[in-house]
Formats: sequence, structure tokens, C-alpha cells
Amino acid sequence: MRTRDLVGMLLLLLPCAPAMAAGEALIIENVTVVSPELGQPVGPRNVLVRAGRVEAVSADPIAAPPAARRIDGAGKFLTPGIFDAHVHVSDAIGLPFDSKDPALAALAQQFFAQQPRSYLYFGVTQVLDLANQPARVALFAAQEKHPDTFRCGAAPIVDGYPLVFIPKEQRYTIAPDYIFEPANARDHPLPAGAVAAEHTPEAVVERIAATDARCVKMFIEDGFGDANDWPIPSVETLRRVRAAAHKHGLLLMTHANALDMQRIAIDADVDVIVHGVWNWNEFNPAKGVPPAIAEHLRRIRTKNIGYEATLRVLPGVSDLLRPGVLDDPVYRKVVPPALLAWYRTEPAQWFRNIVYGPKVDAAAVIAGERAANERWETSERGLRALRYLYELGQPLLLGSDTPSAPTYGNQPGYDTFREMQLMAQAGIPLSAILSAATINNAHRLGMEKDYGTIERGKIANLLLLEANPLADVDAWARIDKVILRGESIDRETLAADHR
Ligand SMILES: [Zn+2]
Repeated sequence: MRTRDLVGMLLLLLPCAPAMAAGEALIIENVTVVSPELGQPVGPRNVLVRAGRVEAVSADPIAAPPAARRIDGAGKFLTPGIFDAHVHVSDAIGLPFDSKDPALAALAQQFFAQQPRSYLYFGVTQVLDLANQPARVALFAAQEKHPDTFRCGAAPIVDGYPLVFIPKEQRYTIAPDYIFEPANARDHPLPAGAVAAEHTPEAVVERIAATDARCVKMFIEDGFGDANDWPIPSVETLRRVRAAAHKHGLLLMTHANALDMQRIAIDADVDVIVHGVWNWNEFNPAKGVPPAIAEHLRRIRTKNIGYEATLRVLPGVSDLLRPGVLDDPVYRKVVPPALLAWYRTEPAQWFRNIVYGPKVDAAAVIAGERAANERWETSERGLRALRYLYELGQPLLLGSDTPSAPTYGNQPGYDTFREMQLMAQAGIPLSAILSAATINNAHRLGMEKDYGTIERGKIANLLLLEANPLADVDAWARIDKVILRGESIDRETLAADHR
């Protein structure tokens, strides 16, 4: 198994609109502003926030209401909050999907209570959930402190990924917005009792558009690795979904991470491919970007198709073999203590045992990875592809795909940060990482009126950092305060181990 996007699918379609914050005024004084449209840090500046929005940014003193809360920003850096455009908040990370054990259910509850705080702990103030159980997304957005939360509606095809992971008798109840392709009726017939007219691309998109969804998610995945036994949507189906989605003001986002699958997405002119191309099929040079991949990336650039590299997907799985992952002090900040203790138990290794087998020699696999192990190589190919695409002038998008699989190697917020670290490792300049994390996602998703820069009128989702993120990517983890719709939150109060 490789790029397991999540099994969680559509249930009832409940709204999860962000709540408006209180109208208290806040002024951040003498701060250095780091915002993507500025090109470089600018300061000192005074920033006034009122009614949850930025009201003024000025080098001069700002007349603020006497009751305004004041923060001394001297020596600190103010950035827009991070937008992670690929998350799955429906999944209690690492816990088995189908357990009836009440002790595990209690751990899941603790996870769901902490999850939005963990995103905020790492400065993620907006998330886009790409494939979800809407009731769980609503639970996420119902927590007292949570990032502004957006979602796509998923439109899998009959018998396609990720429905293949749901038992046949349940899949179409769990995921009612599936698409039926008459041309494939012999091998993949309409489920008994269903009406074909309700499962055309247009009918499915119309149902999704009637919810709070911002986008439609489709899946182009014929099998992980070299497998190819799952049906995939035709280019014609993808084009019809895209046309219907655009009619309703929605975007078409597609799962695809192998070269052959992404080529289909490009042929169909999808809006965003939500994974990097790390499976290069028969093209496997140890270094560089071969002509076929270069041509592929040029097509993405020429057609202006959005591209989320999701570099943490493969390391997130192989983390299950790495000793010491659970001793990482950051885990205490983002994982509830009881769940962290459970991750250390033998039953918690269930997914590792599925992926690698119960008798895996972890040390040998990890040692072999750096040389030839395919899992590591494919991840490294993703870095090379990203760098190549950046050099073509592509505006990059940040999406971590947390969690990409039921692996405790992925954790909310922490993986968004580690995705940014990997982008830096790929050779992406820090200014381009800033744009990817802020304005590029806002622009691509049609939300730049509200997000992406520190300018008058924008929602005041901001980060006060101890260090300059244009000097060191690790500055993104040196957060003093998270400002959420104008409310200033001390970072450590968001930690899982905060008392
Ligand atoms: Zn995903």
C-alpha cells in the first residue's frame, strides 16, 4: 500500500461555516510584517484588528479604541495564518476504523477534541478537507478553537478508489454521491435499486453544490504501486464533472500521483492535482528529471493546473518503522497523552503490520531506504519534480494530506510544518514557501478577499513569530501567538500537554 488517501467518505452534508469572532479590537505594535505581496519583511508596522478583520497596517501610530488589547511586536514577525489545502479531519489518526472497543472510542474522542488545536499550534488557521465525513468535519468546526474549515464533496466512481476499501454492502450508503459510467456497466454495474439518472456527473455535482462544499474531489487511481485493477473515471467523465462544477462555482480537485494517472487529469483539464508526481512509472533515474517527467510538468504549468506536492505521504508511512518517532518531543504537543501512550502498544502497530508484515526488520528497511528502497526513492522523486515545476514558474500550493493513511507518522499541524520543511529541502525558496502557504491557496480557491495577505479587510488569521520565516523555514515552528479572527491565543495553551 502506498498513497492511501482516506477511506472516510460522505455521510450527511452538514454545514461547517467558520464562526465569526467577537468584535474586540487588537493592536500589534512595532512588528515586522512578512506578507507575500510585500516581497520582503517590512517594519516596524502597527496593525489594527477589529471585528475579526485587519483594519489598518501603518508605519505611523494608529488611533485605537482605549479598550483595545495591545501586543508588543518588537523583534517579532507577523505573517498571515497558514492555509493547508489538503487535510482529512474525519480520521482519528492511527486508530482502527472498525473497532467497537469503548477504550479506543474514548481515545478517538480525545483525538477529535485536540485535533483543531494541533493545527492551530502549528499556525494552520485555514484547512480544506478534501474527502470527508461531513458530520466529522462539523465536529471539528464545533470545537471551541479551530481553523476556518472548508470542504470538498467527493465523487468516486462505481467500484473505484477509495470505495474499494469499504465493504460492498456499505459503500454506497456511506458515499451516496458516486458516479455511474454506462460504458463500464458490464464490469461495474449500477448498484441494485439505484437510478442511473441520479448518478450522472451533472446530477452528482448538483447535489454536492447544494451543500457547503467549495469543490468536487475525484480519484484517478488504478491501484497502488504497480497494481492496476481498480476502475478509473474516463477523461469524458472528468470533463463533464469539471464543466458542471464550474457552472456551480466549484473547483475540480483530483487525486493522482503516478505519471499515467496524472496524464489523465491533465487531459481533462482538472483545476488541481492534489498530489505530487512521485510514481514515475518506467522512468526511474537515480538523479535528475527525465524528459517524460519534464514534459509532464511543463504541461501542468502551461495549462495552469494547481499542484500540491504532498511530500509527507511516503515518509509518513515509513515513520512507522523508525525508532524514536514517538519520542519526538513535538508529539507531546499535538497528540493527547493517552493516545500517545497507546501508539506505543502492540495493537497500535496494526497498520504497520498491514504495510510491512508483522515480522518486518525495521532497522534493515530503514537502512536500505537511503540506497535503493523504492519508498524512499519515490519520495525523493517528488522533491525533484517539485523543484522542476517551481523553476518553470508554477505558483506552488501547500497541502500536507494529513493523514494520508492511518499512520501515526502523520499528525495534524506538525505535518503541515514538515511539508514546508520538505519543500525547503527540495530547494524551494522561502519566499515561495510563504506564498504557497498563504496567498496561492487563497487565490486558487477563490478566497483571496478573505485570506492570504495582511491587508485591510482580510480576516485577521495571523501568526506572531519569534523568527523570520524568510530567513529560516524553522521559523514557522517558532510561534509566539496565533491570532484567530482577531483573538490572540498564546501558542502553548493549544498544546495537547497544556494544563
Ligand atoms: Zn488526501
